[in-house]
Amino acid sequence: MLNYKEYIRVIPDFPVAGISFKDITTLLQNGEMYKKAIDDIKAMVSHLQIDVIAGPEARGFVVGAPLAYALGVGFAPIRKSGKLPYETIEVGYDLEYGKDKLAMHTDAIKKGQNVLIADDLLATGGTISTSVNLVNQLGGNVVGAAFMIELEALKGRDKLPGVEVFSLMSYE
Ligand code: IMP
Repeated sequence: MLNYKEYIRVIPDFPVAGISFKDITTLLQNGEMYKKAIDDIKAMVSHLQIDVIAGPEARGFVVGAPLAYALGVGFAPIRKSGKLPYETIEVGYDLEYGKDKLAMHTDAIKKGQNVLIADDLLATGGTISTSVNLVNQLGGNVVGAAFMIELEALKGRDKLPGVEVFSLMSYE
């Protein structure tokens, strides 16, 4: 595996003091590395039967949509409440400061479809466990969750029991 970390910019104290933010824009601006990253994630999930990729806004689109294109499967956006135009289901979740809701169109996933969830980064797992909940409510079967980055110390995997987790890079 390539050393993708060389292409990640780490910003101390963003968005608040004490957080060391992993900025993927420096990887994205390098077309060759962006393509390799998506191709490597595709290789990691190649043993899975995937019908649809679902990704939470906004950076989940940056990973999930090219992965869906590479696999030749559909993409289902997971968005903040109030952004999707058709009928939706919503699930609330706790943020570091306050609460928010994620939503999906009711027809985004057909019953029994195998879904891979994709995002840029797994931290506490709150975003992805909420995404798993949405997909399950629509009758989808979450076969895995794929990320560019995993922050291991935050133990996001523990919030995803039974979900196979894939990441290109991990930080302590
Ligand atoms: P979680 O819900 O705590 O797992 O946080 C993951 C979500 O927050 C993802 O959608 C990320 O885009 C975002 N996030 C949290 N920390 C970072 C970071 O250091 N860099 C980029 N995104 C982050």
